[in-house]
Amino acid sequence: MAYINGNYLKLQAGYLFPEIGRRVNEFSQTNPDAAARLIRCGIGDVTEPLPPACIEAFHEAIDEMANRETFKGYGPELGYDFLREAIAENDFSSRGINVDANEIFVSDGAKCDTANILDILGHQNRIAITDPVYPVYLDTNVMAGHTGEANDSGQYEGIIYLPCTAENNFVPAFPGTKADVIYLCYPNNPTGATATKEQLANWVSYAKENDSIILYDAAYEAFIQDAEVPRSIYEIDGARECAIEFRSFSKNAGFTGTRCAFTVIPKELSANDAEGNEHGLHGLWARRMATKFNGTSYPIQKAATAVYCNEGKAQVAGLVSHYMGNAKILREAATASGLEVYGGTNAPYIWIKTPNSTPSWDIFDKVLNEASVVITPGAGFGAAGEGYFRISAFNSRSNAEEVAQRLSEINW
Ligand SMILES: *Cc1c(COP(=O)(O)O)cnc(C)c1O
Repeated sequence: MAYINGNYLKLQAGYLFPEIGRRVNEFSQTNPDAAARLIRCGIGDVTEPLPPACIEAFHEAIDEMANRETFKGYGPELGYDFLREAIAENDFSSRGINVDANEIFVSDGAKCDTANILDILGHQNRIAITDPVYPVYLDTNVMAGHTGEANDSGQYEGIIYLPCTAENNFVPAFPGTKADVIYLCYPNNPTGATATKEQLANWVSYAKENDSIILYDAAYEAFIQDAEVPRSIYEIDGARECAIEFRSFSKNAGFTGTRCAFTVIPKELSANDAEGNEHGLHGLWARRMATKFNGTSYPIQKAATAVYCNEGKAQVAGLVSHYMGNAKILREAATASGLEVYGGTNAPYIWIKTPNSTPSWDIFDKVLNEASVVITPGAGFGAAGEGYFRISAFNSRSNAEEVAQRLSEINW
């Protein structure tokens, strides 16, 4: 008899996006005319094509694969030096942040990395997760057997939930029980919030005092407009001893369908084995990558490197400003409608309080029925997301303008 990993049975059946799909289908069948003008502001996927500099580098690399002299087989498991060095120089050194090229691990996605990182961490860790949250952090801990069953509000036994609401500006307070691993994501999906240098410094102090590790997801770093907002956890003194940072080319350069990301593990970062002996995490992650991964493809790493050439930088800045322009239009329309609006200034997500404490799924239905616009109900991201909804700024300009117009016509 063969057995499954029974932890998978504890997962809630991919509730959020399937439920949105079900409601949108039902709406489309009963209102075919309204469905014809449906605009989706739900899923956080980019809409604009890859930067031309990336396309050019991508084509050139594919041509190299066509010749015996320039053909590439297996690449280095941790990533090609040309990309690791470009990242170290442009994302870190040039901003005065101390991260070496050999502390950068190139991969095919920040989703995979934030999930796979559990491979090198012990099962005895107490895990703290913000609420609302990007569901990957939670589900991968369920799969790894780090939780009990979910209760009626969808919260898992054994997880330390850190509520993020308007009251704490969507940056959590320290938990009552000591956490060994803490997931933080700023700029945040879904709330669009950022953390100040002081707030991050407080979390770094917490981690150092408690020998905890911060898993810092900075996938939306490129959307930061405010010069005071930290772009990397390593801007904080001491973070090299307690934090792993995840970055991605998905949102800044539109690589969601192309797949390239990277993770930073500083050489100083360590944790204990069951006997209390310290071990560096850099070496463990290098071993994990070499054993379970054979590298991101050469053409894709070439395309990602083009993000850092002069044309690439200008084109990525153009994409970011396109999406942030949408965010401004949507923010202003929601604010003018009298709604309480958060995010959307340093992140491509707008997080809105539902009027009169209406449940977020009721607001979802209302916006769908009255405006033919698909938003994301906050409750789908966790219990503390109830009472909010998310609008994504990943769209064409004309769609963003149309959604802004329709939001202003809703009788909230
Ligand atoms: C989109 C997103 C990522 C990026 O994931 P990829 O696998 O690199 O596409 C990571 N974290 C969060 C919170 C995201 O929303």
